[in-house]
Amino acid sequence: MVFKSEPLLMMPQTGLTRFIFSNPNSVSDDKPIFIEAESGNVITFGQLRNLSLRLNAGLRRHGFKKGDTLCIYSSNTIDYGVVVHGTIAAGGVVTTANAAYTADELLFQLQESNAKYLVTNDENLDKALEAAAKAGLSQNNVFLFGNRTIKGVRPYTQVILANEEAEAEEYTFEEAKSTTAYLCFSSGTTGRSKGVMSSHLNIAANCVQIAQFMKPYLDYQTARFIGFLPFYHIYGLSCMLHLAPYWGIPVVVMPRFDLVKFCEAIQKYKVTIAHVVPPVLVLLAKEPIVDNYDLSSATHFQCGAAPLSAELSTAVNTRLNTKCVQSYGMTESSPGSHIQPLDDDEHGVIGKMLPGMSAKIVDDNGNEVGLGQRGELWMAGKDPVFLRSCPNIMQGYLNMPEATAATIDSEGYLHTGDVATLDERGTFAIVDRVKELIKYKGFQVAPAELEALLLTCDKVADCAIIGVYDEQQATELPRAYIKVTEGTPQNEATVKELIRFVDSSVANHKKLRGGVRFLDVIPKSAAGKILRKELRVIANAEAQPK
Ligand code: AMP
Repeated sequence: MVFKSEPLLMMPQTGLTRFIFSNPNSVSDDKPIFIEAESGNVITFGQLRNLSLRLNAGLRRHGFKKGDTLCIYSSNTIDYGVVVHGTIAAGGVVTTANAAYTADELLFQLQESNAKYLVTNDENLDKALEAAAKAGLSQNNVFLFGNRTIKGVRPYTQVILANEEAEAEEYTFEEAKSTTAYLCFSSGTTGRSKGVMSSHLNIAANCVQIAQFMKPYLDYQTARFIGFLPFYHIYGLSCMLHLAPYWGIPVVVMPRFDLVKFCEAIQKYKVTIAHVVPPVLVLLAKEPIVDNYDLSSATHFQCGAAPLSAELSTAVNTRLNTKCVQSYGMTESSPGSHIQPLDDDEHGVIGKMLPGMSAKIVDDNGNEVGLGQRGELWMAGKDPVFLRSCPNIMQGYLNMPEATAATIDSEGYLHTGDVATLDERGTFAIVDRVKELIKYKGFQVAPAELEALLLTCDKVADCAIIGVYDEQQATELPRAYIKVTEGTPQNEATVKELIRFVDSSVANHKKLRGGVRFLDVIPKSAAGKILRKELRVIANAEAQPK
């Protein structure tokens, strides 16, 4: 059975910048949109539009061409959105890099995306300059957030912010559909990180889908978000930098998560909806310090990016007298596809599919399964039955037609690699994952990348990485299974050395927190594919009490 959601009532007809500033809720220019939690500094709706259009003018003057790519490599700041929307307004493509990346990880993204411009922050400057030099990117095109010149790198506000605005690039519907706005990186169902091409229409359409779905539940006048989710991940990018200004909802911006600062900010700014990931809910459920704050303004915690157990959401609801609801999506679906209605009391489900989409749940042979049965979730925004089916499924992976074809089938269905069930009320639940991907606290870890790195170590003959679940922290941890080279002792010293080897070359979220285990043979299929299912059985057996 193909499941179809409600039709989409409105379809964006313009490029993304014009859409975001179309102001459907008639927000006044002086309404704060980004508020820096620490200092209280504000960017209002009018300032955001003005600064974005001035950056658009300045970028063009600086030689930025339509189709050029600008990379942002920074933790959250209140002017992150200015750089995003200014670049898109200039007809550019934005690629957002994880702020914790090493110089080599950033280099990979700069090269893959062919970035010509880089905006970074003070703390990432050294790594940014190292990667930029290796990528052959001119230092003249590297800029800083903030207002200081450091090591000859100037603030973007001094150089590419013009005194006057320029009109945002205009796109027809067809152009908006086929012009890439963002390149966020995702490993998808297999392999290394890939540039996900999200068009102007992909992102705008997803805003419209979410807006239509959330309309009964949101009061735009009083709603306030808190923005600690990284803006470089599509979850933060979409909710905080697109939906919030589109709706006119203020976002209290934090550079990163910190429990005390998070609670202080909710209390001080009367945040109403907090977008979170499961490990944050663990802290809210358990940490005594939470009792010191009045979090009663936060009527909802919207949790996404990784599985959330019914036990955890129940514990938070009880302790804080609030409501945790889930959402689900992927970088490849721009990103939201499912949200739990805010008045839904069910736990452990991802809720309803957003308007304008269709989905199938299929068995290993691609045959649709019945209600309540488990199968892989495939979803599309292109069902011809609806006049306004929603194009929120990505354009494809940059320069990777084969990987794209392996992920989006000829009927337009995105194969999610997640195992789901659907009930008679149209409520979906995610019950397992069949793809390789590991999620550490909502951050992607691509096993293929760590395996390639480990294979460069002379002590490793063969290896495989899987995620093992840690109940305490409500997250998966990357674990390595290693076949050592002849003569290498299988002892604690080798374990430590291998962990050090990986951890010193990768960003924090990719570290081998799940440890190292030795195997005589890495289980593989006849075609040489790692049998991760078998490794999961081994890991589960280890986890059982003896
Ligand atoms: P990303 O592209 O980084 O957003 O990762 C997308 C993946 O995160 C999905 O394919 C799922 O495996 C996982 N994910 C996102 N939201 C949820 C959720 N609510 N429950 C379970 N898994 C989720």
